Amino acid sequence: MTETVSGNRGLLQAEALIFETGSLARTGVDMPAPKGRANRLGGLGRKVAPALPGLSEPEAVRHYVRLSQKNYAIDLGFFPLGSCTMKHNPRLNEKMARLEGFADLHPLQPTQTVQGALLLMEELARWLLTLTGMEAVALSPKAGAHGELCGMLAIRAALQARGEGETRKRVLVPESAHGTNPATAAACGFIVDEIKATEDGHVDLEDLKTKLGPDVAGIMLTNPNTCGLFERDIRTIADLIHGAGGYFYCDGANYNAIVGRVRPGDLGVDAMHINLHKTFSTPHGGGGPGAGPTVLSPALAPYAPVPHMVRRGEELALVEHAEDAEGTPFGRMCAFHGQMGMYVRALTYMLSHGSDGLRQVAEDSVLNANYLLARLKGHFNAPFGGQPCMHEVLLDDSTLRPHGVETIDLAKALLDEGYHPMTTYFPLVVHGALLIEPTETESKAELDRFADVLIALAERAKTDSAHFKSAPHLAPMRRLDETRAARQPKLRWKPVEALKTAAE
Ligand SMILES: *Cc1c(COP(=O)(O)O)cnc(C)c1O
Repeated sequence: MTETVSGNRGLLQAEALIFETGSLARTGVDMPAPKGRANRLGGLGRKVAPALPGLSEPEAVRHYVRLSQKNYAIDLGFFPLGSCTMKHNPRLNEKMARLEGFADLHPLQPTQTVQGALLLMEELARWLLTLTGMEAVALSPKAGAHGELCGMLAIRAALQARGEGETRKRVLVPESAHGTNPATAAACGFIVDEIKATEDGHVDLEDLKTKLGPDVAGIMLTNPNTCGLFERDIRTIADLIHGAGGYFYCDGANYNAIVGRVRPGDLGVDAMHINLHKTFSTPHGGGGPGAGPTVLSPALAPYAPVPHMVRRGEELALVEHAEDAEGTPFGRMCAFHGQMGMYVRALTYMLSHGSDGLRQVAEDSVLNANYLLARLKGHFNAPFGGQPCMHEVLLDDSTLRPHGVETIDLAKALLDEGYHPMTTYFPLVVHGALLIEPTETESKAELDRFADVLIALAERAKTDSAHFKSAPHLAPMRRLDETRAARQPKLRWKPVEALKTAAE
């Protein structure tokens, strides 16, 4: 590899930490200290200058622009991560969310002055309830995991109302579940009991039956599951759990695979969160806050948290306190009413697609995943017999390992090829898992480019494992000691000595 004098790689600039490049001699402040004015801080003034980096404006701007160019983003290229969905945030959504009437609201404004916003929330709720076939929706949860908490607290409240709060403590969770499911159940005071998967990647019904009993509070199940497979026995599972007196929590993170085609309410679901950032195109992670509205069945609807909306004739109002509610809310999920900006974006997406368009979302997400599966399964092992998948393709590294190449090496080699890696080592039920979710928004040409790269890498692995073991070769950082980073994280930059002395 060519080493450069500057440390830059072509137009990709080397970048030190802002504190390492800055100097206090270069701050933007040029006013002299005022003369003849008493210090009014009463001895509380700083003894040493704050550890600010000290950069001019152009230096600060360049620092952040360079950092932004080191970032991979959905606006830059294909993002094959699985169990993550949205790879596209339509610009129309952003335009709508910036309309003053939505963007400049304050949550403490009198409700008469925000009727338009409440109407938008009512309309979003109507779409979510129509699509899911459920009775009520709590809009306020701020992420998928927060929605799980909301649903499980509703289940706990329903059990308590039946006088079974103390006796029904066990929650069944399939072993392929996302980590947030058992974590949520445990956080709500339940005991997590794992259900086995069958050879073909589904919930093992026989194992489930042996786990039922009078102490079962419910089940937390993802459908399509994290192996990208539809749980075909879901109605039977719902009947079994209801027959045993428990409730059915469905993790709706993969809802984009079935939206408009299947109504979870018809499957016997009692509670399900919907990640607006996974199904309804709102920005995810660094791009914006999550939103996890949670739909509830008639059995759980009375326990929906405050605040929630009620229509009083022409007026929409918010029920803020449990004692003013018709049902018996289990409590409150957050200070205000949730992520208004995300409601605007999600409804914009729904309205711009319409009901037929949303159904096509599901169809295209499944078609795209199966297209990739068909192209890749001759080159990688597809666990569970390579059966047709839903919206994500699950592969593993078992055909690479005999050549000395593992999942992590393939992921690192993909960085050199200009791709963010797929989800690796998840779900845990598959050794060396590679989980790819193309989603509905990628073109065939893009999928072909990605498949071509993966196939070429699979071929190269057969003869050149050294290339993979030392990858990435072209990334700004090479292989990092990820174990040490996880075990001994440095969470805080400590001021360099020179900066301290300069300030004294
Ligand atoms: C993403 C995801 C979650 C959690 O959602 P967040 O919005 O990240 O909190 C839960 N379950 C599954 C299956 C997921 O993919």
